[in-house]
Amino acid sequence: MTLADTLGRPLTDLRISVTDRCNLRCTYCMPAEVFGPDHAFLHRDALLSYEEITRVARVFVGLGVRKLRLTGGEPLVRRDVATLVASLSAIDGVDDIALTTNGLLLGRHAAALRAAGLSRLTLSLDALDEATFSKINGRGVAPGRVLAGLAAAERAGFESVKINAVIQRGINEHAIIEMVEHFRGTGHVVRFIEYMDVGETNGWRTDDVVSESTIVARVNDRYPLELVPPRVAGETARRYRFLDGQGEIGVIASVTRPFCRGCVRARLSAKGELFTCLFGATGVDLRSALRASSGDEALRALVHDTWRGRTDRYSEQRRAGEATQKVEMSYIGG
Ligand code: SAM
Ligand code: SF4
Ligand code: SF4
Repeated sequence: MTLADTLGRPLTDLRISVTDRCNLRCTYCMPAEVFGPDHAFLHRDALLSYEEITRVARVFVGLGVRKLRLTGGEPLVRRDVATLVASLSAIDGVDDIALTTNGLLLGRHAAALRAAGLSRLTLSLDALDEATFSKINGRGVAPGRVLAGLAAAERAGFESVKINAVIQRGINEHAIIEMVEHFRGTGHVVRFIEYMDVGETNGWRTDDVVSESTIVARVNDRYPLELVPPRVAGETARRYRFLDGQGEIGVIASVTRPFCRGCVRARLSAKGELFTCLFGATGVDLRSALRASSGDEALRALVHDTWRGRTDRYSEQRRAGEATQKVEMSYIGG
């Protein structure tokens, strides 16, 4: 029997944050003024070990999860993530393991990740011009370094990489067409993400959001598009195909077109809390259950009961303006 929440949504995806640290300071995610030199990141022993993550993942797979995604923070700043990928891919029932990264360390890790069984990569890149990108990432990093990571991924055998670009009004709107022109026809798919009000630190305002309809209209003016039906239920991105056959783009419109009804995703924070929504205020502590001697049955019951009681649909309620204290995205994983 499938485990479903109060709105009938099954639990099929698990996003695992392997660290709350990052080598960038994107203004919309970990602004440098807030995540400065004195910021208290999690201690090593607070983090779930790779063995613990694998145990939790096995429990989730037993409850119906088929897709795993490693994220963070920046997952590749944690040592030897490929060994984690290898042990996750050995779990019976896992169909797909993906990883979201800013790409800076891919040159060093892409081949090992591929060999360990990583199925798919998502790379984040918000602009192709140096001035804009280095300002957004808060560390003065040039886009060429991310593109070098992408080239390493291609050499390692990752064919169709998804490229995430968060679009902010007045900041990187010009990147929409530039990214389309750069990636059309390459097999990689750019996915434009509406800027979201995750966390409490990025100073989000509705006016900063560039909507799906604006993004699609701008691309369509230059390169005509048609909407493609979703491949699987619960797909977060709406897909649009170029009429000239040069591939497609995706748009993740969590602000203007919320997809809570199809949200089948749980999130595990780096210290082992279960969040059932990206906009959650608190998580359920799985680490204590993991570290107690009660075995996997207690853990399974905790996950089961949490999902069964799940009511989350933040993005659908956003307009109603119900304020909560929200967790940071770098903490629970995007
Ligand atoms: N460090 C990795 C990276 O940047 O790909 C993985 C973690 S990051 C939190 C995952 C994704 O969340 C990235 O693609 C990032 O652009 C996106 N993201 C972070 N903050 C966001 C926000 N406020 N609105 C929309 N997307 C956001
Ligand atoms: Fe780091 Fe990714 Fe957040 Fe940028 S979006 S600060 S790369 S975790
Ligand atoms: Fe899922 Fe929460 Fe996002 Fe809605 S707001 S799609 S429930 S993570």
